[in-house]
Amino acid sequence: MSKCQNVKPIKISGCYSGAGKKFNKFAISLKGNSKTNCPTTTSEKDTCPDTCPLKESGCYAKYSFLGAYWKKLSNGEVENSFDFKGLLHAIKGLPKGQIWRHNQAGDLVHNSGIIDLKSLTSIVKANKGKRGFTYTHHLATPENAITVDLSNENGFTINWSSNNLEEADELYTREIGPVVTLLPVGADKVTMTPQGNKVVKCPANKAKNITCATCQLCAIPDRDYIIGFEAHGTAKKKVSLIAAKEITV
Ligand code: SF4
Repeated sequence: MSKCQNVKPIKISGCYSGAGKKFNKFAISLKGNSKTNCPTTTSEKDTCPDTCPLKESGCYAKYSFLGAYWKKLSNGEVENSFDFKGLLHAIKGLPKGQIWRHNQAGDLVHNSGIIDLKSLTSIVKANKGKRGFTYTHHLATPENAITVDLSNENGFTINWSSNNLEEADELYTREIGPVVTLLPVGADKVTMTPQGNKVVKCPANKAKNITCATCQLCAIPDRDYIIGFEAHGTAKKKVSLIAAKEITV
């Protein structure tokens, strides 16, 4: 007898057996936050890779308004949180064509830094007919690059996160998916990388009337420019130095 036989099957993947089982603290806000204004999820801190250079110093989520909430969620103290199957149900239940953002904090479910293909495939299936997008600080190893590419080819957009313009160039020239990067405080609306690639600053960084719901640039998998996020949050000085490569992490 399959050990999953007594578990109520989820419509998306039947008996779910991916690494998502290791993680059980996810949440969704249908309204999102003031920057997203669309359904927005949060994943527990352990989904972040240990290799993320911002994990212990400068993480936007940790040092922004989100920090306290993320901590509570990760400690299992948020009442309406759910496990990975619950996350899949929540995504599946979003209206057709809905733009939504995965992970205002947290990253993709993984096994010691290897993005879990099974879990991601379930998200891709749940996202069918919707316009989900997210970012990842997992290393762009060949294995992770193939997994991310599969997602991008199938409607769930994953942006590679980089920490400065040089790293953005490296990722962008590999053509493994859309790229975002950190920008120092005061960066122009458009910046060019050392290799001449265009970086467009997230318009929501400054304009209060622009949100992910209206902008949607991060949901375009084949855009021919990089998106830049100006350092902000209480650790913005440090993040700005990281983006300017004045300190290495
Ligand atoms: S560029 Fe647009 S979609 Fe991306 S984070 Fe900024 S507002 Fe949201």
